[in-house]
Amino acid sequence: MDVQTLIIVTLANVFSVSLAMPALMGWRVSPGARYAQGAILAQAIAWGCFLLARAIDDRTFSSLWMAWLSLCFACSWHAMQHWLAPRAGSWAVWAVAVLTPVGYWAGFDSYPFRVAWANFGLAALMIAVCISVVLPAPHAGRRWRGVMFVALGVLAVVTLWRGALGGFFTELYPHLRAPHPANLAAALLHPVVITLLTMASLAAWREEAERELQRQAQTDLLTGLLNRRAFVERAEAALAEARRYCDPMALLIIDLDRFKQINDLGGHAAGDQALQLFADALRSCMRKGELACRYGGEEFCVLLVRAEAGAATSFDARLREAVRERNETRTAAPLAYSAGLAVMGDPARTLDEMLLEADRALYTAKQRGRGRLMHQDQELTVSAPAGLPAAALRLVTK
Ligand code: GH3
Ligand code: MG
Ligand code: MG
Repeated sequence: MDVQTLIIVTLANVFSVSLAMPALMGWRVSPGARYAQGAILAQAIAWGCFLLARAIDDRTFSSLWMAWLSLCFACSWHAMQHWLAPRAGSWAVWAVAVLTPVGYWAGFDSYPFRVAWANFGLAALMIAVCISVVLPAPHAGRRWRGVMFVALGVLAVVTLWRGALGGFFTELYPHLRAPHPANLAAALLHPVVITLLTMASLAAWREEAERELQRQAQTDLLTGLLNRRAFVERAEAALAEARRYCDPMALLIIDLDRFKQINDLGGHAAGDQALQLFADALRSCMRKGELACRYGGEEFCVLLVRAEAGAATSFDARLREAVRERNETRTAAPLAYSAGLAVMGDPARTLDEMLLEADRALYTAKQRGRGRLMHQDQELTVSAPAGLPAAALRLVTK
């Protein structure tokens, strides 16, 4: 078992993986998957450069080997940004990724310096990926992250070992191809790590695809709001929680007024645009924990947590103002809506009962001339003083 043969095995492994990854995943992939593909390709090119170094130009090709390896770990770090969560330190990762090959090239004539510099630089990048993998990311699976952490963590330890040997115990560690235990361990480890990282990357990519499918299954395509099914599911959960803590809760059903006219005047595309604009207004008024969905064609439903009729009235006033502001940018017929409110007075009330009550109130709002908020037979609409910004309505309606 010699180091050179093991490196050739690594090269064969990594090249086949770098071709198989895009063949399996396809070309049109998410940014996370693109970075993972880039990382494995950079790794393949790196080992190609390493094998060419002695035959062509040791300094140039060995420095290129370092550059591509650094790029590989920088890409892995970026893949984690997309698959897990954005982390601070992008500039530091790129600084180390650039300085590692540049320092290696500049200090090539000093063997202890270049070995220590390059190995410590690469180990720092591996550790950065490991940290990124273990920092909290509640939506991401633990298994693939565990595999990635262990594989890169072990490689980082061996890399640090080689850096320390080369830099401070040079006589014990003559060169990278020597049959030293550190070299054999690293050469044996490389194909194993590449295989494990590939498997972890594929698992991460599948998890991302599943998450996207789940998001699509819960989202209304046109407006980006929750769809009815997802809303009902989440509202039931919110209601159960509100019951447990005796929190008040308010439910609004909103129906756009004379929407057919918008379609008739501007065409279906104008209608679609108006629905998107209304959803945008709705989003601008929502607070954390509140739910909004497209309930049907031009009907929307909002669940306000820890809210009674007063808070719902305030929400309605803000929403009317947000719609009015957006209407100013439109030339078509102005958008307006009617709304019906139900509040959870009795903790035993079900979501269906609240929906029914809100729907009845909405019907009354339509009957009474539209453009208003009704709670049972009582009108709650607060008309906004002209020119008052939406934020100020929070105070007005308190
Ligand atoms: P009202 O004030 O009584 O609610 O009158 P309306 O015109 O809003 O009510 P109606 O139920 O008669 O019409 C609703 C219209 O909404 C009819 C339908 O074509 C339109 N609509 C439903 N979904 C969509 C959609 O996704 N895009 C577009 N452009 N129009 C839609
Ligand atoms: Mg309707
Ligand atoms: Mg309508």
